[in-house]
Amino acid sequence: MTEHDVIVLGGGPGGYAAALYGASAGLNVALVEEDKVGGSCLHRGCIPAKSLLQAAEVFRIVSGADDFGIRLSEGATVMPDWSAVNARKDRVVGQLYAGLAGLLRRRKVTIIEGHGRLTADGAVDVGGQVTSARAVIICTGSVPRTIPGLEIDGDRVISSDHATNSKDASLPERIAVVGGGVIGSEFASVYTDLGVATTLLEALPDSVLPIGPDRDVAKVLAKALARRGTVLHGGALVSPLERTEGGLLVSFETKAGAEKIEVDQVLVAIGRQPLTENIGLEAAGVSVSDRGFIGINPATMATSRPNVYAIGDCIDTPGLAHVAFAEAIVAIHAILGERAVPVVYDRVPWVVYTHPEVAWAGLTEAEARAAGRDIEVHKYMFAGDGRALIIGDADGMVKVVAEKNGPILGVHLVGAWVSELLAEVYLAVNWEALPAEVGAFIHPHPTLSEAIGETMITFTGRSLHA
Ligand code: NAD
Repeated sequence: MTEHDVIVLGGGPGGYAAALYGASAGLNVALVEEDKVGGSCLHRGCIPAKSLLQAAEVFRIVSGADDFGIRLSEGATVMPDWSAVNARKDRVVGQLYAGLAGLLRRRKVTIIEGHGRLTADGAVDVGGQVTSARAVIICTGSVPRTIPGLEIDGDRVISSDHATNSKDASLPERIAVVGGGVIGSEFASVYTDLGVATTLLEALPDSVLPIGPDRDVAKVLAKALARRGTVLHGGALVSPLERTEGGLLVSFETKAGAEKIEVDQVLVAIGRQPLTENIGLEAAGVSVSDRGFIGINPATMATSRPNVYAIGDCIDTPGLAHVAFAEAIVAIHAILGERAVPVVYDRVPWVVYTHPEVAWAGLTEAEARAAGRDIEVHKYMFAGDGRALIIGDADGMVKVVAEKNGPILGVHLVGAWVSELLAEVYLAVNWEALPAEVGAFIHPHPTLSEAIGETMITFTGRSLHA
């Protein structure tokens, strides 16, 4: 006799989505969590990071109010109050946490507090209490990666876990961000806009978002950051950090030579690693790769052990909360014996919440060419968009990659609020729509979305304003 239909191991986005969706389908679900439901995304990642980015945006806008003819009173200074910024972020997190806990309660999900481990017979042991179910979904997530010489102490050398939960009374004056990926770029944007002297050190030649978005789009972000004062170094080989009286000495080498800078803090953002140790995978016969990812069949999210599934950051798929949500749905469908619609991993939506934002779905121009596709590419700059000028944010671009006389293969966006424009083009890419079909739909004027309509129309050989 099993006690539950499903036991979910880990209460982050993958886990709580599996629990909520499973319960909505009538399954009796237990969720094991050793910390707080919501996981890294809610407590140490997406939500607090975007809340800090929003505070940075407010500061940037208020500081630039003069441009709009809005005058601050004589002698008034605008400055960030780091404690208050963090207090607001905590309120946002707290409200979402209470909402999530309430939702799980209302769906009658049994929460088991503690550290869960799979047993050899496929049940879950939490502190000696063994619970069995028809199926187990593992979603134990990931933690920040580090390397020797960049050991994280949570004080001077921090990870995103600390940056999103700062207890410092004030911001550092100088910071080095190691890693120019998604986390590094977002925090470089936060710190730069809040007035911190920020240096970004990325190992790959392109200093900002070297992997992921189209190069043209990444370049717009790099230029915009540099213009606001971020010091960017690509191809940087960072040596082990040295402590000094005043802070930390960061030595690095680039093509241009060796350099040393002194900073107050270093944020290490060189990737995340799956959290798959000490959860009984070996005993249960669940296969794990050399890099620690649980192996799955993407059609069902099933692992090598029957009735055990895995989703989210503990498997080798894009480490995004919304991908984990989608994988949770696939796993629940498989458990219910229904036909699951697998995630198309090379067409998932990506958003980087820097200023300007970067968002994309599908192939870059380089990827499409490398795949031997016969393509047509069109771009449209936000500088020609009325709304972009009205809001004072003309740094932006739409880039569409399509098969010649065929469907859209990828759309890459950079600019203000493009996170909110992505849904349309994500749909177009996944629907395999033709550019002309999307261009035939009306995009309201004046909006940023017009830039998408204009780019699509260009594929017909005619154009409006482009
Ligand atoms: P990442 O893989 O995006 O970027 C890490 C960067 O660090 C890479 O560009 C890499 O070349 C560089 N790097 C590695 N070692 C280095 C070294 N020794 N010196 C200098 N640079 C080095 O990883 P991340 O930014 O840490 O993010 C981790 C995960 O979190 C990703 O899976 C990401 O998808 C997810 N995330 C997503 C969002 C979002 O969707 N907006 C936000 C934050 C995090």
